[in-house]
Amino acid sequence: LNKLELSELDKKHYLHPTTPPRAHYLSGPSTIFTEGKGIYLKDIEGKERIDGVSMLWNVNLGYGNEELAEVAKQQMLKLSYSSSFSGQSNEPAILLAQKVASLAPGDLNVCFFTSGGSESNDTAFKLARFYWKVKGQPEKTKIISLEQSFHGVTVGATSATGIEGFNKFTTSNAPNFLTAAAHVLNAELGDKSDPNYSRSIRGIIESEGSDNIAAVILEPIQGAGGVRFPPDGYLQAVRKLCDEHNILLIADEVICGFGRTGKTFGVDNWNIVPDFLCVAKGISSGYAHLGAVIMREHVREAFIQSDEMMFHGFTYSGHPMACAVGLKTLEILERDQIVKNSRLRGEELLKGLKYLESNYKHITNIRGLGLLAGIELVKDPENGISFDPAVHAAALYTDICMDLGLQLRYFDWKGTNTVALAPPLIITSQQVEEIINRMSDAFKRFEKQI
Ligand code: PLP
Repeated sequence: LNKLELSELDKKHYLHPTTPPRAHYLSGPSTIFTEGKGIYLKDIEGKERIDGVSMLWNVNLGYGNEELAEVAKQQMLKLSYSSSFSGQSNEPAILLAQKVASLAPGDLNVCFFTSGGSESNDTAFKLARFYWKVKGQPEKTKIISLEQSFHGVTVGATSATGIEGFNKFTTSNAPNFLTAAAHVLNAELGDKSDPNYSRSIRGIIESEGSDNIAAVILEPIQGAGGVRFPPDGYLQAVRKLCDEHNILLIADEVICGFGRTGKTFGVDNWNIVPDFLCVAKGISSGYAHLGAVIMREHVREAFIQSDEMMFHGFTYSGHPMACAVGLKTLEILERDQIVKNSRLRGEELLKGLKYLESNYKHITNIRGLGLLAGIELVKDPENGISFDPAVHAAALYTDICMDLGLQLRYFDWKGTNTVALAPPLIITSQQVEEIINRMSDAFKRFEKQI
C-alpha cells in the first residue's frame, strides 16, 4: 500500500501511544518507517535518517542485525514457546538468567523475566512488598519515587512516575505511592536547612515512618524526565539512607542498563548495588519484548525461607525466543566491546555538543555519560532567559533535525527545552561526526526561524 492508503487506515484503526488522539486522527502518522540498517532508518518516502535516539532508547545494537534475526528464527523453529509457570523452564531463559547475573554488580544474581520495563517495575514493587510480607512486616507497602521520573505506564508504574502528564493521565492511581523531590543531595545527607528537606526521600521517610515504606525507586539518570543527572554522591547517599532505614532500593535501569552510560549498568558509575535492578530495552536491543528484574541474594533468600507461593508471573515470562535474542544481544555486547564503544563514542559526542555550544547561541547545559546525552535550548544562555513556551523551541529544533535526516527526541516539561541524544551503541566516530554536522546545520536553520 502507498503512504496515503496506509495513513487513512492508520487514522481509522490505530490508536497510538503517547500521541494526541485528535491531532493524529486529523493528520495521520508523521512517519511510516519501512527499513532500518545499523544506525540508519528509511521511511515510506525513501527518506533516510540517522536514528540519534535508538528509537525509544532501546535499539542499542542498531537495526537489521543478522545474528539476532537468525537466533530468533532458529529458536522459533526449535521451541517457539514454553511456560515458566509451575517450575517449567527452557534453556535460553536459564542461560540468559545466568548471563545477566554474571554482568550485574554485587550479588544481583537472580532474574525474574517480564516483557518490558513497566512490567519489570511493577514486578519489583510487588516483590518488594512480598519480601516484607514474608519477613513478617506486611505493613511496609509504600513506594517512594522521584519527581520527573518515568517508570512506565501500567497502573503501578504510572503511579510511581513523577512526570505529571503520565501520572495524571487518569483521575485515579494506585495507592501507597509517594513522590519525593529529585536529586536534593544535601537534604538526603541530612541537612535540615535544605528548603526541600520535607519533600526529600529522607524527609518523607521521617514523616511517614520507615515501618510503612517498602522501597525507593529511581533511575540512575532520568531519561524521559529530561536526561537529568544526579549530583555526584546522590546515589550513594540514597543507598545509605535505605540501608539505615531498612528500605529496599530499586534501580530502574530500563534506559541505562547494558551499556548506555558507558558502563554495563548506570549504577556502576557510582558503585552502588541496589536490591532490585529493573531492565528491559537494551537487554534485547528492541528485537524482542523482554525485560527482567534482577534481585540480590538476600531477596531470594527471604522468598525461599517462606512457604508462600509466587502468585506473580506473565504468560511471556521467560519466553524462549525473547530470551534467546536477549542472550545473543549480551554475547554481542561482550564480544564486540560495545560498552567500551559507548564510553569512547560518548566522549566524542560530548565534545561535539560542546563545539555546538561554543558556535551557536541558543544551546546550554550540555550533559552526557556514555551515549546518553542532553542539551537545553534557551533564548539567552548568558542572562538565563528561556524561550517563551508558546514557541515550542525544542519541538521546532527536532523537527528541523528530522528534516535534515536526524531523528532526536525532545522533552519540554516544566518550561525546559531539552533535546535528548542516545544513538545506537554500535555507532562509529565518523557517524558521531555526522550527527554533529546535521545538528550544526539544524542550528543554522533554527536561528533563522526562531
Ligand atoms: N523505565 C524507564 C526508565 C523508561 O524509560 C521506560 C520506557 O521508556 C520504562 C520504564 C517503561 O518501559 P516499557 O515501555 O518497556 O514498559
